[in-house]
Amino acid sequence: MEERFADIIIDISHEKLDRTFQYIIPEALREQIQIGACVSVPFGKGNRLRKGYVVKISGQAEYAPEKLKTIEGMEEKNVKAEERYIALAAWMKEQYGSTMIAALKTVLPVKQKIKSLEKKSCRLLLPAEEAEKLLQDCRGKHQTAKARLLQELIQLEELPMPLVTGKLHISPQTIKSLEKQGALCIVSESAYRNPVKISGQTADARMEAYGRRKQLSDEQREAASGILEDFDAGKRDTCLIHGITGSGKTEVYLEIIEGMIKRGRQAIVLIPEIALTYQTLLRFYVRFKDRVSVINSTLSQGEKYDQWERAKRGEIDVMIGPRSALFTPFPDLGIIIIDEEHENTYKSESMPKYHARETAEKIASMQDAAVVLGSATPSLEAYYRAKTGKYRLYELTKRQSEGGLPRVYTVDLREELKQGNRSIFSRKLRELIEERLKKKEQSILFLNRRGYAGFVSCRACGYVMKCPHCDVSLSEHMGGKLVCHYCGYEQPGVKKCPECGSKYILGFRAGTQQIEEAVHKEFPQARVLRMDADSTRTKDSYEEILNAFANGEADILLGTQMIVKGHDFPCVTLVGILAADLSLHMNDYRAGERTFQLLTQAAGRAGRGKRTGEVVIQTYDPEHYSIIHAANQDYKKFYEEEMMYREMLLYPPAAHLLAVLVSSVKEEEGMRLAEKIGGLLKEHRGLCVIGPAAASIGKIQDVYRFMVYVKHKDYGKLIEAKNRIEAFMEKREMEGRAGKETVQFDFDPISAY
Ligand code: ADP
Ligand code: ZN
Ligand code: ZN
Repeated sequence: MEERFADIIIDISHEKLDRTFQYIIPEALREQIQIGACVSVPFGKGNRLRKGYVVKISGQAEYAPEKLKTIEGMEEKNVKAEERYIALAAWMKEQYGSTMIAALKTVLPVKQKIKSLEKKSCRLLLPAEEAEKLLQDCRGKHQTAKARLLQELIQLEELPMPLVTGKLHISPQTIKSLEKQGALCIVSESAYRNPVKISGQTADARMEAYGRRKQLSDEQREAASGILEDFDAGKRDTCLIHGITGSGKTEVYLEIIEGMIKRGRQAIVLIPEIALTYQTLLRFYVRFKDRVSVINSTLSQGEKYDQWERAKRGEIDVMIGPRSALFTPFPDLGIIIIDEEHENTYKSESMPKYHARETAEKIASMQDAAVVLGSATPSLEAYYRAKTGKYRLYELTKRQSEGGLPRVYTVDLREELKQGNRSIFSRKLRELIEERLKKKEQSILFLNRRGYAGFVSCRACGYVMKCPHCDVSLSEHMGGKLVCHYCGYEQPGVKKCPECGSKYILGFRAGTQQIEEAVHKEFPQARVLRMDADSTRTKDSYEEILNAFANGEADILLGTQMIVKGHDFPCVTLVGILAADLSLHMNDYRAGERTFQLLTQAAGRAGRGKRTGEVVIQTYDPEHYSIIHAANQDYKKFYEEEMMYREMLLYPPAAHLLAVLVSSVKEEEGMRLAEKIGGLLKEHRGLCVIGPAAASIGKIQDVYRFMVYVKHKDYGKLIEAKNRIEAFMEKREMEGRAGKETVQFDFDPISAY
């Protein structure tokens, strides 16, 4: 019988994820050992038995088999959860292309050895008399270390750990022993605190408003009970809730989660980080109190780990967070809800480049849980699956607010120019803003871009200022300095064209700062808040601006993408969309979809209170289907038209697309490798291979980038293609022919390279 070998990672509890070791699988264990299995293996010089996890099984030994050690046995105790996440990592590695190490680091929050921020201390638990007795006892037994520590604790009650182990010279064993005796406990300041902080007056007022339980509408009830009934019937199909903006999706989520908790199950709720505001958290907190917790990117690894531990121990029922909250190790997970399912941030940008949607489905299938997706503008992927019967579809077609859907005006900017209007505000928009200012209602102005978006170019010769390290144009910021948004390179502005010497070298001025100036000029009485990547460097400033606007401290909120994400401002009755079509011109097959989503979501901010809202869409391209259907808030028509285009060109979801990115410091070597990979793929019949070619951003931080794209209807075929490339790269490495080039995979990419 053929021999079997296992690659094993030793001890996942520390940051020792950097390498695996190969062992022989003894015949007796061949049946039982799977990926993820926890085994004991002899390790190191003394061959001490250590715990390890199987991450790969193969029929080939990397070294001479006689040099390999053999797995000793299986560990049985208490390892189920870890096994599951290791199996998940193996799936991610296969599905998305990455190293096992990177996949493991994604799914298992690793407790770091150095926990510099954590303050630990020893606290006396015994009443004074008993402590005194114990002290005498220890002295009698000549346990001098114990006695020393007790004596100190009797005086001070609590001692910082560094003092105990340092100045007092107390060993961890001594502390543990006293802890076991119940004499003291170790308290850790940062451990297990709930990061949901609720305080202040506005909080109380809003708590009051949210606390009142809403009578669900028929549509809402149908979705919530439909999903719970399916769950009880053992059906685990993914559900998509397509609900227009303001239709009350969050109420449906709350209802489903409550149902899950009643069934003894837990819930994970994914919300894009940008929409993970105080306002949103409050709605969950009011309903589930301290049974809910949240993680976000500002938490340290250690803090994240603590939240994981709380979930494991059953201290919470609901975990809210961005993508990485998916990996919360609940004991009886019942449901994963993904709100604003269409958001790009659900796709990881680093290896493994996983998508939260599919990964959630995988996790759910491993734990007998269900997945619910929600959006006003579902991704084409999700809606396609609903249409083809893979997902169950629930529709919320009515707004909860009395005002109903907003009235939308589309303004052709070319027409404005013909009429002699050179302002960035169309006449319609100006008129409506003035009206709002008079009526003391709020407006939102949305610009599809960041900073002084403007690249700086010479009007005489056309020269564009570019980053010397990246193949992208520099952006002009306040004060005139030029900044690269890829690597952060900065330089002062230029007065003369470096190419032809002309002094007509200018920024293309259509950024939020410039619009803010224009607003001040045109509406001097208006109070304006600006929100973009520059004004919100910190999470707090972002929340501050939103709160100030919600509290009526400004008449106009001006900003980029980040103001359109699921915020609920009841006093906003006007949304102005400036330059709606900027996002149409990205070189990306999803440009139409993204534009439709942005416009629909932005328009959805208007009229969420009692009064009907109005929306002005300013565009140079009023006939574009993304703009027409967004103006009519007609998702279905948009879907049909967009889907036709995807079918025609075999883009996802009509087919699957694998992007292979080759990076190299040396241009020629990068191109050669990309050509080699392209050739390898073309040998494979039935694959549609595009490239190789330089990426649209051909260089980032002095590293050249080349792309090969592969299309096929069957995802499995793309996995095969990836495996071939991996095998080729491995062989190259083994034969010592590998250079410094790297290869990365991106399945169904969501942004252009
Ligand atoms: P969505 O997430 O679909 O945009 P929300 O859940 O934020 O919608 O709901 C929009 C507004 O309608 C919120 O202010 C919410 O409190 C309110 N709302 C939702 N459902 C109901 C209901 N059944 N009755 C009354 N108000 C509701
Ligand atoms: Zn010039
Ligand atoms: Zn740069």
